[in-house]
Amino acid sequence: MSAFLKLLFRNRLAGAGAVVLAIIVVLVLLTPVLPLQPPNVTDTADRFLRPFSEGHLLGTDHLGRDLLSRLLWGTRLSLAVGFAAAIVAAVLGAAVGIIAGYFGGRIDNTIMRGIDMLMAFPYILLALAIVAALGPGLMNALIAVAAVNIPFFARNIRGITVGLAGKEFVDAARLAGLGHGRILLFELLPNVVPVIVIAMSTTIGWMILETAGLSFLGLGSQPPQADLGSMLGEARSAMITAPHTSVVPGAMILLIVMSINLLGDGVRDALDPRLKSGALSRPMAATLVERERVPEARGEGLLDIQELQTQFHVGRRIYRAVDGVSLTLEPGESLGIIGESGSGKSVTALSVMGLVASPPGVITGGAARYKGQDLIGAKYPRLRSLRGDRIAYIFQDPLSTLHPLYRVGDQLAEAILSHHSVSKAEAMQRAVGLLEDVRIPNAENRARAYPHELSGGMRQRVGIAMALANEPDIIIADEPTTALDVTVQAQILALLDDLRRDRGLAILFITHDFGVVGQLCDRVAVMYAGRIVEEGPTAEVLDDPAHPYTARLIACVPELGQGRREMAAIPGLPPAVDNLPEGCAFAPRCDKATPACRAGDIPLAGTERRRVRCIHPETDVEAVA
Ligand code: SF4
Repeated sequence: MSAFLKLLFRNRLAGAGAVVLAIIVVLVLLTPVLPLQPPNVTDTADRFLRPFSEGHLLGTDHLGRDLLSRLLWGTRLSLAVGFAAAIVAAVLGAAVGIIAGYFGGRIDNTIMRGIDMLMAFPYILLALAIVAALGPGLMNALIAVAAVNIPFFARNIRGITVGLAGKEFVDAARLAGLGHGRILLFELLPNVVPVIVIAMSTTIGWMILETAGLSFLGLGSQPPQADLGSMLGEARSAMITAPHTSVVPGAMILLIVMSINLLGDGVRDALDPRLKSGALSRPMAATLVERERVPEARGEGLLDIQELQTQFHVGRRIYRAVDGVSLTLEPGESLGIIGESGSGKSVTALSVMGLVASPPGVITGGAARYKGQDLIGAKYPRLRSLRGDRIAYIFQDPLSTLHPLYRVGDQLAEAILSHHSVSKAEAMQRAVGLLEDVRIPNAENRARAYPHELSGGMRQRVGIAMALANEPDIIIADEPTTALDVTVQAQILALLDDLRRDRGLAILFITHDFGVVGQLCDRVAVMYAGRIVEEGPTAEVLDDPAHPYTARLIACVPELGQGRREMAAIPGLPPAVDNLPEGCAFAPRCDKATPACRAGDIPLAGTERRRVRCIHPETDVEAVA
């Protein structure tokens, strides 16, 4: 709860809304014990007294009733009705939505067509019709406002539930023998509650306005009972001669609705899991850069990453995801970056083109030079012109990176059109050619397919075709074969290798699989806790690993045809990068660790060809070189 409040108050407008609303709520809760005049006692001798008159801080209305007293009692009523209507609409709407979304088929059709019929009426007319049928009165106004808002909640929750109902955790619950009721209550409901809360927080203000509107028309609260809408309605005739009678309730409505809406936006952001992890703002177009020093250019390679440091600032915690990584990539070369999940390999690659989400990501040091030009901190138009053109990405899951609603041919054509001024027909022709290049059979027909109509291997080929669309110099492939079965994986790797040889592409290949590195990469860099711990030609590193971590990683790979052997899993877990141990980060898991390993920073030492960050390496890299 305290973390939620901290996130909420980091958004200043939401904090201001929360404070204003809290003051109003406290005032209306204390209204019965405050020394106020009775709200309904008339005194025609004191009609339309101005604010700050004696005994009447906000003046009086057309019947001489004290406006401050009526305002507080009226606000109490309006807030109670607004909140009650929101809760009724949210509970009923969510129940309808979750049932329709979960059961689907005929039940969904029947329920949602009923909802559509309700939505077909202008909601204010529908509310008026309901009050006309039930008769004027505050309770009937509440029912009307709740009823017209049920479809909004039902549609929202049904949409979310349809997505959730097909997920594996629901299948697992079915397999565990849970009935529909328990699945709805214990599996689906907890997942939709945040959406319900967010929808409520952004609609309560609107419902208070709707209730005030009905009271303004004389269909809500009835005289002499005051609510904000009826106070405005009664002040209508004296709007010119005694404007304070309408300004007072009008200003209160404005304050309530503004504060609830600001607070609602803040609640939505604080409950958003993407924003929970960082600051309360949407990711920027490029990664934030706060470098104190830029290393001098070395003039090496097509891509030269030098002492790169990328951190995630979450509250007071600093996660050093990439901590001084240096790598070079030559034209036509394939460099593998390997390591366990969380070792910083993907963040290294994403930092190059400013694709780490900021906030919370910040590049705090180093440089990444493409043909000698530093990309860290480059202006957005420059980055945009390079992304997908000179430096392209292949992501792990093509289903989530391809747009589900566009045909793959159109998406490939768009990738070409966004960097080259060619006609749509030419771009489409080239898109078909690209699909042929990545060996998709019947490419012309496949170009008209949607991503969901293709198999996983086909989609990944489309992802590769998209990366090749503008004949880039560098492809960064982030675990592109992890989600594929081994035969498709082998085909994709062979394809990438052929393309590299044919086109002179440089490939930065991120993986956790030494088998893939052995098949595709000329050189390999092993990462652990945000740092490179070993680097060298792939064959040498695989045959003769120098760092104990590399040796343990290789020992974890099962070998076909080598008989039964115990799998040598690495004990323990990688360290949290916001709390790294002194000295070697691998020391707690290393069976060769000595006190010297924990004494201080250990440099990446060796030759140009082969380097290792260890004071007791498995092999002498300088002797090997
Ligand atoms: S420096 Fe020490 S603890 Fe670290 S890997 Fe080498 S031997 Fe193990």
